[in-house]
Amino acid sequence: MTDTFGRVHTYLRISLIERCNLRCTYCMPEEGVLLSPKSSLMTCEEIYTIAKTFVENGVTKIRLTGGEPLIRKDIPVILEKLASLPVELSISTNAVIVDKFIDTFKENGLQNINVSLDTLDAAKFKEITRRNDFEKVYNNILLLVSEGFKVKINTVMIKGFNDDEIIDLVQLTKNLQVSLRFIEFMPFDGNKWDMKKMVSYAEIMKKLNSFYSEEQIERLQDAPNDTSKNYKIKGYKGSFAVISSVTNHFCDTCNRLRLTANGHLKNCLFSATESDLLTTLRAGKSIEPIIEKAVQAKLKVRGGMDTLKKLQEPKLHTQNRSMITIGG
Ligand code: SAM
Ligand code: SF4
Repeated sequence: MTDTFGRVHTYLRISLIERCNLRCTYCMPEEGVLLSPKSSLMTCEEIYTIAKTFVENGVTKIRLTGGEPLIRKDIPVILEKLASLPVELSISTNAVIVDKFIDTFKENGLQNINVSLDTLDAAKFKEITRRNDFEKVYNNILLLVSEGFKVKINTVMIKGFNDDEIIDLVQLTKNLQVSLRFIEFMPFDGNKWDMKKMVSYAEIMKKLNSFYSEEQIERLQDAPNDTSKNYKIKGYKGSFAVISSVTNHFCDTCNRLRLTANGHLKNCLFSATESDLLTTLRAGKSIEPIIEKAVQAKLKVRGGMDTLKKLQEPKLHTQNRSMITIGG
């Protein structure tokens, strides 16, 4: 699955569900989203069949996402089926109910768990997620770490909301072995994005440089295809990183494809177009030619929004789905 720019696609992110038990303002539009009818969502069997086709074509890594993947009733069966494929399997979750899945994760060999947490303040957590679950999420992060999982914490940075917590968040990594990832706020349909609300990679580093000395901040080696610039504070147990999709995109080394809960393939997080695999699968036909065509059609940068000016055009970024129905 090599595209016209020579990028080899080995990583598939599968969204299992369009619903969520939180309502993060940057992800879920205030008015909600039009949900796909249940009959057009992939069943467990269909997820497995589609995933297997991708694996046969070179995918070595699958991450499950949503919406909130853990609120899907058949999640234990989905994990079990996908764990039988020769892939590294991982999951992104808001961690509200993660404590109920520790054994299931272990039984299916999951090691890498990404958790969303945007603030260390319970009242601000309620403001951003529109739910009162800070304690549960925070304690579940501690639980995951103590159970030996490799935990990444995803933090979407929003100006005037959590940019005053940059130092506190990095200090969380002092005694906790997690990788904290600051994510630049990205525009999607319905999330009221505004460039002015975004906290850039440069601003995050400036803030850290005003608190830590140059010698204390260590630049780590990024893994191949990494979307993040990785750092650690010397002597701290954990590390931190910045995902700068807006100011410093990493499209040149992109190896990702995305499958939505209704079985559509997106060749880019920002693509306005998608390819319906599920209808073809249900018609008993091969989905491989559609995958091949979608990979070949992948544009070089952010689904065609190759400049900051284009990314800021609501006409362009609202042609995409809301994040809740893509899966991050
Ligand atoms: N519910 C799970 C969770 O919260 O981790 C999985 C789905 S969520 C859509 C996946 C990731 O997308 C989360 O880390 C979230 O912070 C991130 N995300 C959602 N909307 C975003 C936006 N507008 N800009 C940047 N990241 C965003
Ligand atoms: Fe739900 Fe995750 Fe989106 Fe928050 S970021 S609304 S937890 S899907």
